[in-house]
Amino acid sequence: MSRAARSVVIRRSTPEIRIVEADACVVGGGISGVTAATLLGRRGRRVVLVDACPWVGGQAVGVPIGTIGGLFSSGPEPYLLTTIFATELLHELTEQDACFYQRSRRARTVNVVYDDVVLMRVFERKLRAAGVQLLLGSVLTDVHRADRQIRALRVATRFGPCEIRARAFVDTSGDAALSWMAGLACRTATFPIYGTQIVIVEGVDYSNVGDPHEVIWEAERVLAEKRQHYGLSREKGVVFPLPSRGMAVLNVTHVATPLDPVAFWEEAAHGRDEGERAFQLLKNEYPEAFGRARIRSMGYPGIRQTRSIVGRYMLTVDDVVAGTRFDDAIARVAWPIELHDTATGYRWEPFPDGHVHYVPLRSLVHAEADNLVAAGRCVDADPYALSSIRVMGPCMAMAAAAAEAIDLYLGGYASVHEVPAAAVQERVRPNIEGQVEWPPEVATRPTLQHRG
Ligand SMILES: Cc1cc2nc3c(=O)[nH]c(=O)nc-3n(C[C@H](O)[C@H](O)[C@H](O)COP(=O)(O)OP(=O)(O)OC[C@H]3O[C@@H](n4cnc5c(N)ncnc54)[C@H](O)[C@@H]3O)c2cc1C
Repeated sequence: MSRAARSVVIRRSTPEIRIVEADACVVGGGISGVTAATLLGRRGRRVVLVDACPWVGGQAVGVPIGTIGGLFSSGPEPYLLTTIFATELLHELTEQDACFYQRSRRARTVNVVYDDVVLMRVFERKLRAAGVQLLLGSVLTDVHRADRQIRALRVATRFGPCEIRARAFVDTSGDAALSWMAGLACRTATFPIYGTQIVIVEGVDYSNVGDPHEVIWEAERVLAEKRQHYGLSREKGVVFPLPSRGMAVLNVTHVATPLDPVAFWEEAAHGRDEGERAFQLLKNEYPEAFGRARIRSMGYPGIRQTRSIVGRYMLTVDDVVAGTRFDDAIARVAWPIELHDTATGYRWEPFPDGHVHYVPLRSLVHAEADNLVAAGRCVDADPYALSSIRVMGPCMAMAAAAAEAIDLYLGGYASVHEVPAAAVQERVRPNIEGQVEWPPEVATRPTLQHRG
């Protein structure tokens, strides 16, 4: 064959649109979307997962958040509050030595610090095994809604536009992007809620201490003492250890996260500068542990709270404080109120040991649509209540309930509003009852005893 015959001239003619059909379309591939899509796929549904980012895992991977919070109860012997999907993740992360069970003194609970690359691969394998079709790098551009039914949505991809037609939709976009684009009612706080530019550091030396927590406590102390010299706005930063990888997660900056494309990236630039200064502070002022460390990644700016759906019920801070056990409860939470409402600090209001509060199914179901359920950080809750339930443990629990509600709806109900809460609860019972100890050896390790 001659060389000239190896290519042909082509030219775009009429705009083509790729059509994809599914039973359910999940918009947002963070921990909520991955959980919902995987569980729906396992129920035998044809599922498409759409995300603007070219990776799965949303903020858990792309920021990366670095720590799963809200999975365990609070008190001297924390147990797992959410088990569906969560125990699989913990098994795989533990097996690959890619996580650390960190005893939080502040929250009197256990956090799971993880390697984000390993978590992303675990997510990918689970989605593939469940038969979920991925449409990554796909930004929502339009939603077609006929009265109370969402029919289809359009996304822009680097390969051209795509239309997804489905019978049901899950909004796990974090910013209620699907509901917003569909013209449905949404809710937003009347004051700014700050995000954070997370910095992942590697090459941290944990060998000089008996307990890795000591490195972290000293790092937090040094940050608080010296932050003004380095121009850091936030008073109290938190640092999480991942000793098996020589890594640490610096959650020490505050950055505004407006829902405006230009303003968002202007603020992000300040966040990145501040993140770098925070790292430099630790390198200079705590060289025993950070002297040979380097920045491994500074990903997408972390967005805490922006826009929520208007559901059939808005969870309130009073419900959270009272621990109201709703008739349609589908998730349990013990995480404190953690509202980042000022540039310098945040409200941190832990609950007494053993306290649990609940998320009702109604807060996941959009009031104005029959085939739409939300999960994760865009469910209906006031800003204070949301600041407690938006952490990753409850996100997985809400997503499990969303998947089951959608599966039941697809099984023959005219509206998700008609799906009996009891039927959903029956399927997610392990998440609302029971006290699973995990893993048994963690509960007895001396480093997990409360100190100070
Ligand atoms: C800085 C910071 C620190 C935190 N620390 C912790 C912690 O230590 N422990 C903990 O458990 N939780 C923590 N959280 C909270 C937690 O990380 C999030 O609330 C949680 O990850 C939310 O998951 P999600 O799946 O609901 O949303 P996200 O992870 O935000 O996923 C939403 C996805 O939707 C996609 N999307 C949005 N809009 C569109 C669109 N228009 N088109 C297509 N796709 C779209 C996004 O690309 C994204 O991937 C923290 C949050 C932040 C910001």
